[in-house]
Amino acid sequence: MRLVVWMTPIGADRRTVSPADVVRRLRRALAGLVLAGLACTAPLAWAQRPSTPTPTPTPATSGPASQASASVRDQEIASCQTGELRTWADGRDRPAASRTLRFAYRHDGAPSWFTASAVLALVQASAQAWSACGLTLQVLSVPRDGVPPEDAIQILWSEVGSRGQFGLANLAARSLSLSPGLFGVLRQRRPQYPAQETLQMTLSHEMGHFLGLMAHSRRCVDVMSYYDDGRGQRCSLRDPASWGTVIEYRAQLPTACDLERCRALNR
Ligand SMILES: [Zn+2]
Repeated sequence: MRLVVWMTPIGADRRTVSPADVVRRLRRALAGLVLAGLACTAPLAWAQRPSTPTPTPTPATSGPASQASASVRDQEIASCQTGELRTWADGRDRPAASRTLRFAYRHDGAPSWFTASAVLALVQASAQAWSACGLTLQVLSVPRDGVPPEDAIQILWSEVGSRGQFGLANLAARSLSLSPGLFGVLRQRRPQYPAQETLQMTLSHEMGHFLGLMAHSRRCVDVMSYYDDGRGQRCSLRDPASWGTVIEYRAQLPTACDLERCRALNR
């Protein structure tokens, strides 16, 4: 069982979920937040330091280590090097169902601290970033109690649909569900943390599943990554020292490697 199971495409996990499971998953997701680095505690960050296959030389920059490490992370976001396209092989990648995907955002049931326009802007930012894959991604907003177009992938707030995870892509139902409850817990536990960043990352990650990226990346910085396979293996970094220098190492938008994988699937 993974330690960080908060974003999963349906199909990978079709088990029925009891209320007790939901509570367990909420607890596990919270533990995942801590393990993912949101807690930003040094011992945990150290304990969670991923292994890296090829140690890289210390960057030739002066100044605080955190600045140098942030810059390595920025480089990882911007470029995908040979050998970095690795996944946990926990799903089978495939082309997107269509070259044009329409995402319809429905704000009903959203947490009160997210405005409809703010979430719509995040959806548009994720779609815009993924369009570099070569597919056409359109975003529209569904009015309150409105009905989305039949061919659209609905993005909605649903505790049932998200099954105790921050977000969940259900490819068969063409729905991307977000959890009001978990975002509520995040706000309660970490009021200072910018929840819109977690939402941006969740939206980008789940959209990636609709674009055909079913397996999770082993590169920590990828928006499609899982940090840990739950069996002692960790995601990889170019510079191990950069782990823990930012609260969330995973990018909010697709990285160069996410896009390269997407383009290879959808050429
Ligand atoms: Zn996922």
